[in-house]
Amino acid sequence: MDAVQVLSENGRHFLRSTLEEIHKDSPTSNRNAVIYVAAALEVLLKTRLAIEHWTLLFDDPAKAKIAELKSGDFISVQASKLVSRLNNILALDLKPEASDKIFRLRNRVVHYAPPSGLALRVEVALGMNFALQFIHDHLLPLLDSEEHAELRTLKEEISKVFLDLDEFRTKRLLTLEGELRTHSTIVECPDCSQHTLVITGDGNGGVCLFCLTETEGEELAQRYKVNVLQWGWRDEARGSDNPIHECFECGALSLVAGIRVINRPKIAYGCFSCGEVFDDAAVDLCDRCGALKVADDEDTLCPDCWSSILPSGQS
Ligand SMILES: [Zn+2]
Ligand SMILES: [Zn+2]
Ligand SMILES: [Zn+2]
Repeated sequence: MDAVQVLSENGRHFLRSTLEEIHKDSPTSNRNAVIYVAAALEVLLKTRLAIEHWTLLFDDPAKAKIAELKSGDFISVQASKLVSRLNNILALDLKPEASDKIFRLRNRVVHYAPPSGLALRVEVALGMNFALQFIHDHLLPLLDSEEHAELRTLKEEISKVFLDLDEFRTKRLLTLEGELRTHSTIVECPDCSQHTLVITGDGNGGVCLFCLTETEGEELAQRYKVNVLQWGWRDEARGSDNPIHECFECGALSLVAGIRVINRPKIAYGCFSCGEVFDDAAVDLCDRCGALKVADDEDTLCPDCWSSILPSGQS
């Protein structure tokens, strides 16, 4: 096994142990959770360094020896230096505060009197939050398929803890506030029910900032219809209008009628593929075929109808 595999496996082990301790919620288990999440963070950050080059795991890469790496008997880079090494060498943009705080807290828990249970759990939540985002942004895109599958499963387990435990959910939502403000189209996520799904509008569908699920536009429209609008077979049987239409901007089958955009309440239609949104008055039905079209008093037919009426070559 190479260094990357060993580190990523240890990272998974420590994160799973963190999850177990969190669920027990006793003074001892909360302290253990801090120690485990700090170990997990340290190892995950090192995994990224090892992907780049094994010598970066040494405190002084100039003195790195492969034999020492194999025996595990060497002075490795200190936890507190990991983020700056990653930022400097790989031009990442990680915030050192997030991991520093948990590394300092680990020292306090190990050597001195720890803070109260709730304070510990809040810090563990922030550490897990950092780990989740780091795995998603910096490890998953680089790992081979087996490691990738293992980490993906773990990522889903962590997301579930965030959903299950209110203090964890609140902490994660708080850390997302700034980024959410930079997006113009936010809707409820059909996977985790948080108001954190952003429609990117670049044709790639949407991504939920909370559970980190990325879904292509047409599939996302389907999931939104079923899970958020709760459109089911009863509506189908009743002959209600299917809320999903062909988008008149991009042509994808992902324009949803009755979409609820959290930060723009007037919006009534939105496309999960191209990200175009419309209020009620901006959309009309074609007089001839009943398809949705851009509202226009002068022109009451949709482009498809025009092209089937007019001889080709004219428009
Ligand atoms: Zn979600
Ligand atoms: Zn569209
Ligand atoms: Zn028409």
